[in-house]
Amino acid sequence: MMRRGNIMALLLSSFTALQAQTKQAVELSGKVANMQTGKVFLQKFDNKLFTTVDVADITNGKFAFHTPLVLPELYGISLDTSRTPMYVFLEKGPITVQLDSARYYANTVVTGSASQDLFAAFKKQENVNISDFIKAHPASLVSAYVLYRNYSYKLTPEQIQENIALLDPSLHSTPYVTFLKELTGVMANVAIGKKAPDFTANDPEGKPVKFSDHWKGYVLLDFWASWCAPCRKENPNVVAAFQKYKDKGFSVYGVSLDKAKEGWVKAIANDHLDWTQVSELNYWQSEIAKQYGVRAIPANFLIDSNGIIVGKNLRGEQLQQKLEELLGKSGGTATKKVFKGQGPIQAVNTESRPVQRQWKGIFNEPGDYVFFRNDFDCARLNGLVKTNDSIYTALITSENTPINGSPWYAFKVWSKKPKRITITLTYQQGAKHRYTPKFSKDGKTWTLPTDASVDVEPDSLPDKYSFAVNAGPDTVWVAGQELYTYQQVLGWIADLGKQTKLTTLTIGKTRAGRPLTLVKMGNLHSKKRILILGRQHPPEVTGQFALNAFVEALAANTVQAKAFKEQFLIYVIPFMNPDGVADGNWRHNEGGIDLNRDWQDFHQPESQAVRDFLKKELADNENKLLFSIDFHSTWDDIYYIVDPKLKGNMPGFVTDWLQQLKERIPGYVPNVKPLYSAPPTSTAFSYLFQQYGTEALVYEIGDKTPRDFIKHKGQVAAEALMEMLSSRAK
Ligand SMILES: [Zn+2]
Repeated sequence: MMRRGNIMALLLSSFTALQAQTKQAVELSGKVANMQTGKVFLQKFDNKLFTTVDVADITNGKFAFHTPLVLPELYGISLDTSRTPMYVFLEKGPITVQLDSARYYANTVVTGSASQDLFAAFKKQENVNISDFIKAHPASLVSAYVLYRNYSYKLTPEQIQENIALLDPSLHSTPYVTFLKELTGVMANVAIGKKAPDFTANDPEGKPVKFSDHWKGYVLLDFWASWCAPCRKENPNVVAAFQKYKDKGFSVYGVSLDKAKEGWVKAIANDHLDWTQVSELNYWQSEIAKQYGVRAIPANFLIDSNGIIVGKNLRGEQLQQKLEELLGKSGGTATKKVFKGQGPIQAVNTESRPVQRQWKGIFNEPGDYVFFRNDFDCARLNGLVKTNDSIYTALITSENTPINGSPWYAFKVWSKKPKRITITLTYQQGAKHRYTPKFSKDGKTWTLPTDASVDVEPDSLPDKYSFAVNAGPDTVWVAGQELYTYQQVLGWIADLGKQTKLTTLTIGKTRAGRPLTLVKMGNLHSKKRILILGRQHPPEVTGQFALNAFVEALAANTVQAKAFKEQFLIYVIPFMNPDGVADGNWRHNEGGIDLNRDWQDFHQPESQAVRDFLKKELADNENKLLFSIDFHSTWDDIYYIVDPKLKGNMPGFVTDWLQQLKERIPGYVPNVKPLYSAPPTSTAFSYLFQQYGTEALVYEIGDKTPRDFIKHKGQVAAEALMEMLSSRAK
């Protein structure tokens, strides 16, 4: 919480504009508790200060004012001009005051001013929703004042504008609203993603220091003051972050809103603030604070080496978390580590287990104009809580447990009125955030995050994740990865059919009754066959992209691909888990089972269908399944192969082929890891190897691998495969 004293009183310099307005004589009279004689001062705000506009004598405990004033407006009544006055909204008509200076005028009673009554009622309430308050009193100056004074520092620019729109137009030219309009402009300028305004100010030695000279690595622009207790309380957190990350490219640039050098310098020493410090020694009149729209301290901005604002008001642990995210793993500039991949596969029971159904529909709190929905294929949103006016907490749970914790989510959001909202994704116990949100207007074209860095070590992940969305009447799709549905794969197969002759078969039904589709390409009578599998795991969209590129190269009308298809028969099962994809599952099929653990016991209809199809197709021992590839996604590109000590039909083929990728893609080094060495054959590739001696591998694509590279590599891999198989397959 902000302390009252640390909220900037007034920044506005144009309050004097009021003087131009018509004035009328105030009818203000009253009594003063426990005082027979003395003086009462009538004051008004002017350029951040209360200035006295009239003085009345107290006679027999009574006083009266008939001063010409702008009405209605906020004034101050005081018995001592050196102290903060009693705030009072004066308006037309007789107003009486029982003035009691004890306890900061807490017992003072004002009658005759409807605005003052409303203001007093406002102060008594807790957790007032400012929009509701304005709607109830749209034409009251009090609404404009409290929006300005009590709310604006904690609202986004969009929220401030929405609330201004609720005010009666007669209030739009008041100093409060004029100030707020200026403020929203300033705030929009210092939003995350914007270039930080530059400035120069003096350090304690009086030496000018330019802020942009400190834009190296990440610099925290930290607004504070020696007189600000919450700032002093926050300082140890900043010191801890500075000590931990200063060698990895993190620094702090302090701007103090102190009034005098002495207190400032003393606080720097006492709090061990061993970084650059500047101050205009101008308290809340600081031009730098104004440039950054800072109205309460502590306040901070995290700025990258290009001067772009990448974080804001990071307090306590948030600062270290952000720095860990930006600098922790890589050490700022360290070279990329190689993804170690997964450990040995454990055999598990794959008999069906119950899955939890999602409630499907529209999520909306009564009276709210922001809506979410999950009633579409691939959606996952299990609950939604409106945390405050602009923060929504989404609960994402898995289809059942235990489960490999890769929380998938997808939903749509819109708002009847434009509004910037923050969505916090929370996952069921134990699951960590994995997929950075992707956005779309139509569910087909997606905006990908600009952060292309690859998470090579899936540890130290957050258990929740917040991001902002500009919600408006147009629906925004939000999903863990681009959506790629069963409908899309059917469309893709139809497009392939325009390139090459193909046969589409239904080899079985999923648990929910969806057809399991297999495509045959090439020479249907050839004994030399290969198998391409994908999408056993619903969120693994990047693996699907790789499969598509790979198959498209085989289907192409090139001389090489046509010759290959004359020699070989290609089986493609591009979408092994249509139920899981449609249901937005994290991992499993409708039977609540990881399909890629069912290739020993075959309890699930999807794996059974593939097993039975291949048994029939390969019943003639002359028919050889020479090569099998299963496409997936994980943290980074990796190839899981059969232990080279085990010999298949063409020993060494897979490693030779992957070596070809290295030769054909400049600078690319395939990350290869043996993952199968002995039964049981839980996974598809190990089953296919064990059963048919096929040269098998799992082709994993990173979640964040650039989509262009996925395509390019898929095509190169297919071309290398065609060349090598054509020469080596007997
Ligand atoms: Zn997978």
